[in-house]
Amino acid sequence: MTAKPTPLTNHPTGVALLRDPALNRSTAFTEAEREKFGLVGLLPDRVEDEEVRLQRVLVQLDYKPTDLERYIFLSSLRDNDETLYFKALMSDPARFLPLVYTPTVGEACQKFDQILRRPAGVYLSITRKGQLRDLLRNWPHKDVRFIVVTDGERILGLGDLGINGMGIPIGKLALYTACAGVPPKVTLPITLDVGTNNEALIKHPLYLGLRQPRITGAEYDEFIDEFIMAVQDVFPRACIQFEDFALPHAAPILARYRDKVCCFNDDIQGTAAVALAGLIAASKIVDGALKDQRFLFLGAGTAATGIAALLAKALEQDGLSAAEAKRRCWLFDIGGLIQSKREGLTLFQQPFAHEHAPLDNFTAAIEVLKPTAIIGVSGVGKAFDRTVIETMAKLNERPIIFPYSNPTSHSECTAEEAYRWTDGRAVFASGSPFQPVYLGDKTFLPSQGNNVYIFPAVGMAIYATEAARVTDEMFIVAARALAEQVTPAQIATGLIYPPQSMILDVSLNVARAVARYIFDHGLAGVPTPDDLAAYMAEKVYRPAYRPLA
Ligand code: NAD
Repeated sequence: MTAKPTPLTNHPTGVALLRDPALNRSTAFTEAEREKFGLVGLLPDRVEDEEVRLQRVLVQLDYKPTDLERYIFLSSLRDNDETLYFKALMSDPARFLPLVYTPTVGEACQKFDQILRRPAGVYLSITRKGQLRDLLRNWPHKDVRFIVVTDGERILGLGDLGINGMGIPIGKLALYTACAGVPPKVTLPITLDVGTNNEALIKHPLYLGLRQPRITGAEYDEFIDEFIMAVQDVFPRACIQFEDFALPHAAPILARYRDKVCCFNDDIQGTAAVALAGLIAASKIVDGALKDQRFLFLGAGTAATGIAALLAKALEQDGLSAAEAKRRCWLFDIGGLIQSKREGLTLFQQPFAHEHAPLDNFTAAIEVLKPTAIIGVSGVGKAFDRTVIETMAKLNERPIIFPYSNPTSHSECTAEEAYRWTDGRAVFASGSPFQPVYLGDKTFLPSQGNNVYIFPAVGMAIYATEAARVTDEMFIVAARALAEQVTPAQIATGLIYPPQSMILDVSLNVARAVARYIFDHGLAGVPTPDDLAAYMAEKVYRPAYRPLA
């Protein structure tokens, strides 16, 4: 018997088709497709639909003994069948997000060189300085719209992980798709290899990055500059998200490029927006508006000054004068209250250095300033002790208590402490997740201020509108749109953010609001559509097997 010739198609055929993660449908290829693409005999005869294939994923996942094994399994699934990977993630975000992103991605990054299967994304090494455009051109997709880039220096709370940090851009971009429908083929994870100061990595036989200390100073700045310009040339419609750069680089890089190219920093802007959303929702619970609150931050670093700056802008939008808006925000750091006589304040702290006598005790600051909300971004575990929390409870019927420091051991207090020491009156959200708290016959559901509520949605809006710049106002719109989606029933249980199980719908609502703002303010790169909802819906990636032409 002579074999039937495989017909000409635009796609790879046979084994090559089964190895293409964007096209592979494995046992879901139909009989006709198997005939057409030379697959007969390369697969078991039974044709399955995607639901059965998803069932097999869940069975295999259950065989894995640890979350790191589940991370590895899901990464391999993505290398094999991208549609099924995203179908799994989107079928149960609350279960899958912690496996493909925090907390599991932390351990995955620490061991990235050991668990590597198939490399993904683009690695740009300082040794290739002068050639970055050519390297970017090696990426097979030409219409890249979203780049997440890190230099691996401050990966989560884990410090310098060199190019092992690649797990972060990969994971973050997966969330753009899974949580807000940004099509995976327009996303590109990039890691810049400028060396590492992590001695253990340099000595590890499996480490894949440069075995030299980090490049700094002018050489580092020139490299970043070349990278930014190369992206503009090769992927002119791409938005760049800076991720997990160390503090001395993060703010200056953002400041240098935010008005020149389409870019943002999630650690700074995303964090501020998610905190702002929480404070807006919390204000509803305490029966007031945002502009009725007074805020005292423990910590005056990147997170605190970023949140305070966005908060002050939002308060101004709500009708306060610029001076009054800033006066609602007070910062207290390791040196005590930030006040106008303090020396050595940074540019970001100065707007919140109000006239006041020095104070070096946080509880005393609460007694004097009478905040309605305290926000912990100090990284100091247990800093909101019983005295702090009871003082807030004495001054406020519903004290807003947000310990935002990560990880859990650095949280300024636990959910249980906040609820117990306020007799259940606290309005609580934290940076790290906490289990429900039971006090008497009442159940409290602590909220987690996770950036995942913001950046995928803002990303979707930028992708859909082709905005040329990312502004703070877009993040304020996102924060308000997020806060609006917390229902009265959820508020009654103490929730400040919508449940993660609803993340796609929530993100698409936020994305629409941000897109509306972008179009209304003439910031879009495409004409305003007649029907924004239909336009946005059409842009959303939905993982489903589509027939191959
Ligand atoms: P940072 O180093 O820039 O700032 C830390 C600040 O805390 C400094 O102002 C320091 O003076 C102050 N501080 C240190 N010890 C103190 C003490 N004993 N009393 C009072 N103040 C003290 O760090 P950062 O980037 O601003 O991050 C701070 C924390 O916020 C981290 O734990 C981080 O995990 C958390 N964070 C959470 C989120 C989120 O939940 N989405 C996002 C970003 C940062």
